[in-house]
Amino acid sequence: MTALTPQPGIMEIELYQGGKSAIAGRSDVLKLSSNENPLGPVPAALDAVAAAARDMHRYPSTDHAALRTAIGEVWGVEPDRVICGVGSDEVLQFVTQAYAGPGDEIIHTEHGFSLYPVLIHMAGATAVCVPERERVVDVDAILAAVTDRTRIVLLTNPGNPTGTMISDAELDHLVDALPETVLLVIDGAYTEYAAGYDGGLRHAATRPNVLMTRTFSKIYGLGGLRIGWGYGPKKMIEVMTRIRQPFNLSVVQLAAAEAAVRDTAWVERCAALNAEQRARLVGALGQLGIACDASETNFVLARFADATEARSAEDALTADGILVRAVAGYGFPEGLRITVGDADQTGRVIDSLNSWRTAA
Ligand SMILES: *Cc1c(COP(=O)(O)O)cnc(C)c1O
Repeated sequence: MTALTPQPGIMEIELYQGGKSAIAGRSDVLKLSSNENPLGPVPAALDAVAAAARDMHRYPSTDHAALRTAIGEVWGVEPDRVICGVGSDEVLQFVTQAYAGPGDEIIHTEHGFSLYPVLIHMAGATAVCVPERERVVDVDAILAAVTDRTRIVLLTNPGNPTGTMISDAELDHLVDALPETVLLVIDGAYTEYAAGYDGGLRHAATRPNVLMTRTFSKIYGLGGLRIGWGYGPKKMIEVMTRIRQPFNLSVVQLAAAEAAVRDTAWVERCAALNAEQRARLVGALGQLGIACDASETNFVLARFADATEARSAEDALTADGILVRAVAGYGFPEGLRITVGDADQTGRVIDSLNSWRTAA
């Protein structure tokens, strides 16, 4: 026995694996492994960052009032029911830490976000993984897994890495059937890419036990800056705010996010580009005989015949300077998750896979 013993759960955490970002000896790498925006950061944020940098000697706002007001105006939510974090990852950490501990269960689904088990162990709680049905979240399986010890359900909708989502009716059913003692987190990292979807906003607005999380990392192109937010009942926000560090977001992060959220034209433009190139990529995969579900996100999950074929395709893409995400860790050894790029980038992916298929 060592003298120093970490808290329960910590040694069970497996370190998060990010997407690859470099290929030795290549400068023309196309990184499609982390669902980043092919157009780069929203330009309004670049200007805001440059201006805010002059204030770096000042401590940032601790209540995030200006950013919460901007989020409130743009998304039609009450600013005092919004909490901002270092990526939505931090908001997810607030909620798991605040509402679950040793002896408690947190439900997540089979192919859910790989960060969830990390957060659950950090809270010292027990992870309960429920099966999905053909790569789609199974609401009845979630409900069947609820016990007296269940505190939280973590739901990614649309899902990562599946790209699929449940219907509004299924989400309504989940919200209605879940006991109010169980907190439902709707992780909406890809909401802006799913046409007509509100990310669970209407449930977070009206239910005492629903929290919606959103991010600036995907459609706003600010993954490197680390900003996200959550929206839920005022009481829940107040609880989480107690464990939020007073200066968790820098002056630069706050300024960038405020400028970004007001640029609604950017969101429309990126969503339209994504929908167009996603359809093109899905069509090309189909022609190559590579299985792929309809995606509501900015990536597709390509499913090959088996793990060997997936590895072969990944090697061919890498040889062409294209990085995608192997998703064996998410339960898909036969899969590759490919971020949807712009027209040129999507063309590069399709060309590479065409050559690979021809050579095979
Ligand atoms: C990318 C992603 C996020 C966003 O995380 P940030 O901390 O905001 O960068 C959250 N959930 C899922 C499922 C994601 O794929």
